[in-house]
Amino acid sequence: MKRLCELTLSPGATDFIDDEMLSGLLDEAPPDAGQVRDVIDKSLAKTALSIRETAVLLTAREPELIEQIYEAARTLKREVYGNRIVLFAPLYIGNHCVNDCVYCAFRRSNRDEVRRTLSLEEIRTQVEALENRGHKRLILVFGEHPRYDAEFIHDSVRTVYNVRVGHGEIRRVNINAAPLDVAGYRRVKEAGIGTYQVFQETYHHETYARVHPPDTRKADYLHRLDALSRAQEAGIDDVGIGALFGLYDWRFEVLGLVAHALHLQERYGVGPHTISFPRMRPASGVELSEQHLVSDENFKRLVATLRLAVPYTGLILTAREKPELRREVMAFGVSQIDAGSRIELGGYTEAADAQCIEREQFELGDIRPLDEVIRELLTDGYLPSFCTACYRLGRTGEHFMEFAIPGFIKRFCTPNALTTVMEYLTDYAGEETRRTGERLIAEELARMEDSQLKTELIERLRRIRETQDRDLYF
Ligand code: SAM
Ligand code: SF4
Repeated sequence: MKRLCELTLSPGATDFIDDEMLSGLLDEAPPDAGQVRDVIDKSLAKTALSIRETAVLLTAREPELIEQIYEAARTLKREVYGNRIVLFAPLYIGNHCVNDCVYCAFRRSNRDEVRRTLSLEEIRTQVEALENRGHKRLILVFGEHPRYDAEFIHDSVRTVYNVRVGHGEIRRVNINAAPLDVAGYRRVKEAGIGTYQVFQETYHHETYARVHPPDTRKADYLHRLDALSRAQEAGIDDVGIGALFGLYDWRFEVLGLVAHALHLQERYGVGPHTISFPRMRPASGVELSEQHLVSDENFKRLVATLRLAVPYTGLILTAREKPELRREVMAFGVSQIDAGSRIELGGYTEAADAQCIEREQFELGDIRPLDEVIRELLTDGYLPSFCTACYRLGRTGEHFMEFAIPGFIKRFCTPNALTTVMEYLTDYAGEETRRTGERLIAEELARMEDSQLKTELIERLRRIRETQDRDLYF
């Protein structure tokens, strides 16, 4: 397509998605058991897969091979990530939008949507409510609009960090907003952001053109594909990619995500920190075409395949999905989930128990309160974590991949998960959650070998429980 002249690209930006090549790989004859085994073994040796190898997993047909893929994903999850699940909440800042994405309630032609941008004061009110429930990590979400420029995003982030209620504070703010230019990303970085996410939505060019009308900013495929390269150029080395599943063949999108991850890895020496795989949800005025909607069975398969393809990349599963499916898919290697989420503008103080579809981007599948989700995680043997230590200690980017460094999880991630969950149990949890959590902490400690680290950890847990000391990270 003709590019809009004001949209700048990173130096040497290229469109590295070759539709024909990706579709060709998916049309190849199904692999035999030996080929699937070889790919699984490579992944279990914690090596990232190539696009071709990922296609082998996606084209396997026999039920026993698919079961092997699930089993390998569960094993990798246990070995690389342990039982931690990082928790966050989304905070929608504004739903004005100049684009007209056919799948989204915020699209400019949707006259039913109630439009709103939170003032800085309203942001503070929402953040106080989130802190009072125990959240420590947020993702701020914006429509694409001139008023949501880099300066505005910067000020929103600073506002969030400055809100303190009791022991509450937000320690990490991630962003999901429109692509910026390099100068814009630099400004946003100055606010101290965590991850900057931009989802390609669909990697398939023809579908991309169909769902993003030509007279909109988002219609420029390459400008969006290049978004996180510009973020890297601006010094943001913590980026998140994603695809909206349901627009085109899910297997093609998985290959697109893997190609994107490999491209960032090759070009900047660091792959994406996270991959998101939102599935299309009903939304105000949106007619969902059935053709490419992803079944629960295929959704599980895509998560397991991504886990094996990019062993060191965090996988984010959102509250778009229903509780039962979230529970099942978590075992395949999800590392982060949102919980207690409300996505109506102002929803953390203004929304009742039911969702109001005219005030949100799409309908959520899981609106259980944070405490209930935490209780379920603890009961299932997962260790919820609000840890934000790495980014605050500058452990990001090229020289750092928490999952790649042997012993890192034991030395840092598990102790930090335990101290942050102890903060939650002491300051915010309901009685039953607290009891369940204390039991799990005791079990985790019993599993640890005696060491100076363990002694220090026990002392920190005591300080959190018995004193006002908080934020004691390793
Ligand atoms: N406006 C920015 C953009 O488009 O990049 C910010 C992101 S938008 C508010 C957040 C994400 O929600 C989109 O990237 C898209 O993947 C997802 N989304 C949009 N409509 C959806 C729907 N009906 N169901 C599920 N996810 C949807
Ligand atoms: Fe706007 Fe983003 Fe929704 Fe598209 S997905 S209409 S850009 S908010």
